[in-house]
Amino acid sequence: MNNPNIVILGAGYGGIMTAVKLQKSLGPNDANITLVNKHSYHYQTTWLHENAAGTLHHDRTRIAINDVVNTSQVNFVQDTVSSILPEEKKVVLEDGELSYDYLVIGLGFEAATFGIPGLKENAFTINSINSARLIRQHIEYNFAKYNNEANPKEERLNIVVGGAGFTGIEFVGELANRIPELCKEYDIPREKVRLINVEAAPTALPGFDPELVEYAMNSLEAKGVDFKIGAMIKEVTENKLVFEKDEQREEIATNTVVWAAGVRGNSLVEESGFEANRGRMPVEPDLRSKQYPEVFIVGDCALIFNEETERPYPPTAQIAIQMAENTAENLTKLVSGDKHLEPFKPNLQGTVASLGHDDAIGVVFDDKKLFGWSATAMKKVIDNRYLLKLGGLGLVLKKGKLNFFK
Ligand code: FAD
Ligand code: NAD
Repeated sequence: MNNPNIVILGAGYGGIMTAVKLQKSLGPNDANITLVNKHSYHYQTTWLHENAAGTLHHDRTRIAINDVVNTSQVNFVQDTVSSILPEEKKVVLEDGELSYDYLVIGLGFEAATFGIPGLKENAFTINSINSARLIRQHIEYNFAKYNNEANPKEERLNIVVGGAGFTGIEFVGELANRIPELCKEYDIPREKVRLINVEAAPTALPGFDPELVEYAMNSLEAKGVDFKIGAMIKEVTENKLVFEKDEQREEIATNTVVWAAGVRGNSLVEESGFEANRGRMPVEPDLRSKQYPEVFIVGDCALIFNEETERPYPPTAQIAIQMAENTAENLTKLVSGDKHLEPFKPNLQGTVASLGHDDAIGVVFDDKKLFGWSATAMKKVIDNRYLLKLGGLGLVLKKGKLNFFK
């Protein structure tokens, strides 16, 4: 029998970790493994808000795929997936086609815009190195432009972040630290700049520990963040954002809206005929598609439920990495003829969110709350642990966050 073709789509947390685990567990003659990704690099999505704010260079966040993937064992194809043809077991790329015996879909997330008028056209989103670079440059351009106009426009210095979930909170934390630097660089008084975080729910970080939420809001307000809570974004135009709060419509003059108010799975999966709920596909306990047993789904494209709460698990890097490990183990079994696959059981180790480089909050080990420097240090431990898993000590030394107290 010919060696099976294993094709992995996307080199995010789920895709690249599947490839790295498989290159260790399978011998070169066991299977033909192909990894497809848009770019020649993997990026740590969890650091993109720092790149977007300009507090960390994007080269720290991205990792060349051939630095961690052994390309003599895994065939890396840099291309964009156009569609999947599951009935024919084929993947159509912009520049070719691939056939598979087993497919792993790890195409990640995109912004959910909920049909809000003007959002797609006028707001920025944080979802790739390119999008993060664009936000950084756009903010800097507006600071530079401000003092070059006969009538300087306030909208250039009003930055609005939509959503106070973890992405919104982590991003305003970075921006709050960056703004004083930008003010100094472009000779702009700090009081002229507004950083506004608009959240529809009655609290920031809905569902998270209230004491930690209060800590986070106090910390960010002290750095100049203006929260609009219970405020639903209704429309975005080129130079304003409209929200509704207490049944009143209000406007903020701005030409910088960063939408961090929700994600969905990659729309390509629905376009390819998979049954999905906002891009997230329900899966069997072993992460195989309910429609196509030769297709595994990892990361934000998979929809898995917490049996205790009967609610979906949130899409996180933590879960994507664990899904990849489970999938690599199951593919290794299938290749060796063992059909008894392991069910996926998430092992949640907590949540830690940064509030800039100098502050953070978190809950770890079930219910241990962390604030301040201990949370900041813990976040770095989590980040370095991922790099260690992916590429060993060498990668930690090259890309890791090694100063634990700053
Ligand atoms: P992704 O990381 O989205 O990767 C998908 C990959 O597929 C990318 O490389 C992309 O280029 C590629 N791709 C997409 N479409 C195509 C195509 N058509 N053709 C070819 N390639 C394609 N989670 C945590 O657990 N902890 C955190 O601290 C945390 N922080 C976050 C901070 C931010 C700012 C954001 C936005 C998210 C954060 N998350 C965090 C969530 C986490 O980043 C996601 O859950 C995680 O990235 C999902 O991983 P993934 O492998 O499914 O996909
Ligand atoms: P999210 O869905 O968790 O939060 C979006 C927020 O936007 C919510 O609070 C929601 O009420 C608000 N919102 C929605 N529509 C709105 C509107 N019209 N106007 C104003 N506010 C609106 O999305 P996210 O923060 O991007 O997180 C996505 C996933 O990534 C989650 O699973 C999250 O846990 C994970 N993540 C984790 C971390 C971390 O662990 N440090 C960091 C970032 C993201």
